Amino acid sequence: GAQVSGKELRGNIRVHCRLRPVLPFDDEFRGPGSQNSPVSGAVAHAVDDETILVECSRPGHPLINKTYTFERVYGPAESQRAVFEDVCPLLTSFLDGYNVCIMAYGQTGSGKSFTMLGPRPERDPALPSGPHGHLGIIPRAAGEVFRLIAENPSWRLEVDVSVVEVYNNDIFDLLAKDGCAVVSRAKRQVLTTTEGKKEVSGLTRESVHSAVELMTLVAAALRLRAKQATAVHADSSRSHLVITVTLTAAASSRSTGEWPRCPVLSKLQLVDLAGSECAGVSGVTGSALRETSLINRSLAALADVLGALSEGRGHIPYRNSTLTHFLQDALAYIGSTHLGVELLEDEEHGA
Ligand code: ADP
Repeated sequence: GAQVSGKELRGNIRVHCRLRPVLPFDDEFRGPGSQNSPVSGAVAHAVDDETILVECSRPGHPLINKTYTFERVYGPAESQRAVFEDVCPLLTSFLDGYNVCIMAYGQTGSGKSFTMLGPRPERDPALPSGPHGHLGIIPRAAGEVFRLIAENPSWRLEVDVSVVEVYNNDIFDLLAKDGCAVVSRAKRQVLTTTEGKKEVSGLTRESVHSAVELMTLVAAALRLRAKQATAVHADSSRSHLVITVTLTAAASSRSTGEWPRCPVLSKLQLVDLAGSECAGVSGVTGSALRETSLINRSLAALADVLGALSEGRGHIPYRNSTLTHFLQDALAYIGSTHLGVELLEDEEHGA
């Protein structure tokens, strides 16, 4: 599912639910502890495009049926394109100067990476690799951002990207460089800048001029993440992946004083969360327990923040975890997010 905050949706969090097809290797994906999970044997069906029905069966218990409603439900046959069509307007909001966050939440194997990135070639060799047929939200979003920029050359915008992995409350820079080669992940910390924005100290932000450039960096970051996964944690589903695309006023407009206040206009954060199955896992000890409890805590902190935002509460507990602290700018739609829009409107009106 994707949770989204953006323009027409200001003050809103949208939750979409995607059901993936049943796959031959499904048993592999049940995940640790699922045998004991209260939802083992749960099967979900799309009832219509806003409702799912979940049937839960447990040995010795009666079958329980529950329905859940979402802003949108995608059944197993829905395409990557259909999912992206609903996300696409948010990219216009991003270009309009609003911060946007799109995240995928679900247990390992539920299709988060497929939805956000696309199929993993090593795992899905049988999938037809038509030109763009299976691309996920991230490459499509990259394409749309640069399409919108090309459509409006008078905007004079620059784009940069950072890719991080949030693991055990630490942030690792997946684009960290030594000279030209990406050597290893470097630990970073979230800081608040003088403008009140969230930045990560020393985080690599690479300037990009096309969707291909952006996705080439993302691919390199993912390779590094996969390579180092085994050294640091069991696999990448134990960490959160956050790709941040930042829109800034071009240096030329900054030097002419057209963008006097703050060069950062808006942030787009694309997030593939750690598998949610960790919640409720029992019989885990040592560092695995610490890891599991930190994943649970960060997902619980995220739930608290989204709950507080959706209820319009005054205090939003962003600082309870590194993940929510890092996502704060893109989850908060008040304050600084208006600035970019005013400036863009001035620009459009020739001011
Ligand atoms: P997660 O990131 O949640 O752990 P993945 O994205 O790796 O899960 O998906 C698990 C498997 O299911 C992958 O082999 C993926 O290609 C496949 N899959 C997920 N969603 C779909 C879908 N909508 N259609 C076809 N295959 C899918």
